Amino acid sequence: MSKNSEKSRVAIIGGGPSGLMAAEVLGQAGADVTIFDRMPSLARKFLLAGRGGLNLTHSEGMQDFMPRYGAAAENLAPAIEALNPDALRAWSGELGEETFVGSSGRVFPKSFKASPLLRAFLRRLGDLGVQVRTRCALRSVSPGSITIENADGLEETLGFDAIVLALGGASWPRMGSDGAWTQMLAGQGVAISPLRPANCGVIVDWSQTMRERFAGAPLKNLALSFGGQHMRGEAIVTERGLEGGAIYALSGALREEVAAQGFATLRIDLRPDMNESALARKIDAARQGRSSAQSISNVLRKGAGLSPAAASLLRESGPLPVSAQDIAARIKDISVRIIGIAPIARAISTAGGIALDEVDENFMLKRLPGVFAAGEMLDWEAPTGGYLLQACFATGAAAGRGAAKFLSAK
Ligand SMILES: Cc1cc2nc3c(=O)[nH]c(=O)nc-3n(C[C@H](O)[C@H](O)[C@H](O)COP(=O)(O)OP(=O)(O)OC[C@H]3O[C@@H](n4cnc5c(N)ncnc54)[C@H](O)[C@@H]3O)c2cc1C
Repeated sequence: MSKNSEKSRVAIIGGGPSGLMAAEVLGQAGADVTIFDRMPSLARKFLLAGRGGLNLTHSEGMQDFMPRYGAAAENLAPAIEALNPDALRAWSGELGEETFVGSSGRVFPKSFKASPLLRAFLRRLGDLGVQVRTRCALRSVSPGSITIENADGLEETLGFDAIVLALGGASWPRMGSDGAWTQMLAGQGVAISPLRPANCGVIVDWSQTMRERFAGAPLKNLALSFGGQHMRGEAIVTERGLEGGAIYALSGALREEVAAQGFATLRIDLRPDMNESALARKIDAARQGRSSAQSISNVLRKGAGLSPAAASLLRESGPLPVSAQDIAARIKDISVRIIGIAPIARAISTAGGIALDEVDENFMLKRLPGVFAAGEMLDWEAPTGGYLLQACFATGAAAGRGAAKFLSAK
């Protein structure tokens, strides 16, 4: 590692997926590694991701995979090619967690859990001699040293030969990553794009009925459109708006539109598998058979196949039209006015972060030689589908390799 015989000392701040992967690479390269984390235990957000089955990566080909990172794809490509989805699956398998490809092409561990993988990962790091100090919050960093506030509330300034920052974004701050590092690094002249929610819910000014009766209700099998993007899937009504997979997929574009215009208009087709005329015929037929006791809600349920929540959504955009044809047209194209984006604290991930031109090809901060950055604290975003963890592990490994290279050149 270093040119003299003593082991180089490396601090990794942040024990999420990216920091742990950097620790593995550096431990294997022979460095004396210590991970610092402000929480009482490591990788809490990773464990949270495990509650949804832990979508580790995606099985699609690289020509489809890389564009998921949008403008950041070019900068991330070398790291993701070096630790690609197959390599990540093999790594998981070596740790005893074989993976499988789900029906949507998403990759999960067969156990559908994060905890066994994390346990095996931490065991491997322990075998490599990696040390862990929890309840230690980073207060400042400069080339060659960090200042932490330790578990006793005391400040310690410690010297290291290289430092890897893997402090995460700002979603779910209860899990440890609160984005407070942005001020610390901005104060040192590092350009940081403001942290914003990604893969998040949206805010709608619902009627009282929608809020009180349907919060928590799923809206299944929808087609959503916004800004030329079309998405099939499910949404969930919340007290303040909508969330769920199909909404998350469009949330980046909706967020930008709301920021620019103050609102965005999302279009929803509640019956994407039936054309408008067929739907109108069904509504008509249900109406013909309707006894006087039957409500329009029953017609919408029986004729158009709408759930009570979907029928309520239909009414949110104004009084129901009279003719079956017009009702069918509304079902196929509801306008929902999005007036805001759900707070970052509830988002799956974070957009913004350290500008990618602030790091070199080894993920070293150009302004702080010997200090590397990885994971969600870098300025990239991607949809759900395994792309988030894939990029965190890959940039963690790349920053680890970069730090090892830096140390061997010392
Ligand atoms: C509900 C939910 C489900 C998800 N599911 C998936 C999924 O299935 N697939 C997927 O690809 N992605 C998923 N994600 C996203 C994924 O978990 C994150 O992208 C990933 O954890 C980010 O890794 P990271 O290492 O960059 O940061 P983090 O995992 O956030 O880790 C950062 C670490 O840094 C520590 N830290 C922060 N500040 C300091 C400080 N000042 N001092 C010391 N330590 C500090 C934190 O305590 C934390 O341990 C999900 C996220 C959420 C919220």
